[in-house]
Formats: sequence, structure tokens, C-alpha cells
Amino acid sequence: MTAPAPPTTPADTSTPANTSTAPTDASTASPAATPTRRPLPVPDEQSAPFWAAVARHELMIARCARCGAFTHPPDIICPHCGSTDPGFTFQPVGGRGTVRSWTVVRQSFLPGFDVPFVLVDVELAEQSELRLIGRLLDGPDAPLRVGTPVTVAFEDVAPEVAIPAFELAGEA
Ligand SMILES: [Zn+2]
Repeated sequence: MTAPAPPTTPADTSTPANTSTAPTDASTASPAATPTRRPLPVPDEQSAPFWAAVARHELMIARCARCGAFTHPPDIICPHCGSTDPGFTFQPVGGRGTVRSWTVVRQSFLPGFDVPFVLVDVELAEQSELRLIGRLLDGPDAPLRVGTPVTVAFEDVAPEVAIPAFELAGEA
């Protein structure tokens, strides 16, 4: 076998006494962090700056060095100008946007999610069609319509790991 072993794979069950690196036991989390059993992001080379910023509660989006357009998530080609050498750099965005669509999740197939919760598809203010999907933290009864303004929020799910989410921006 030549494939590198993923560090957190649960495939090896032959030695139950040795759990080595798998950070799956929420009971050992520090008391300051919100205990969670939610799956955690696994950054790769392309997405590492995004997740590092999110961990600092900043939203940074990849921007093409050729045409200046934002792209999320960044691919190896800029979808706006077609450059195969987009030289993406991550730049801060304001975190405001509007709801394009949403769904109420009533059955979770992953651990660590309290149902029901709302998942919103948000178009960020910086650019048309620049979308980010996340949980809406206002609860399942939040008044939503297409175009509802929201602002980014961050859920701390583990030490130095956060997930972007949204809250109603509301003008009340
Ligand atoms: Zn481009």
C-alpha cells in the first residue's frame, strides 16, 4: 500500500485500547471551548488560509490576482477570467450578505448537531453570486425571506477551530 495514512481515519479497529490521535472524545475538550462532536474541517493547502482566518473570527475570501474577482471555494482555475494561474490571495470581506435560499434541517446524519437548525445560502455583499453556506444561529423560527440581510458569525467548535455561520442582521 502506498497511500499515506490519514491521521484521523477510524478504519483501524484492531487495537481499541490505543486511540492515538483521533480527537473524537468531547469529554476531554477544554472547559472553555464549547464541547462538540461535530466533524471538524480538514484544511488542505488551498483552503488553509480560509480556515486560519475563520479561527481568528475573520472572514477572508480568495481573490484572483489577474481579474480581481472573489471565488469561494478557490479552484486551480479562476472561474471568472479563466486564468490557470490565478495567484489567489485571501482578502478580508465585510461578512454581510443576503439570503438566497435556506433549508430547515430536521434530521442530522452527523453527530453534534442539535436539530432542527437552519442552513442558509448567502450571497456576500462584495460580489454577485459569491456564496457561502452556513448555519443560521437565530434558530429554526427565524423570519426568513429571499433577500433577508445577515452577517457572518463564528462558532468555536474546538481549540483554534471555528466554523463560519450567520445571524440575522436585522434593522429592527
Ligand atoms: Zn480571475
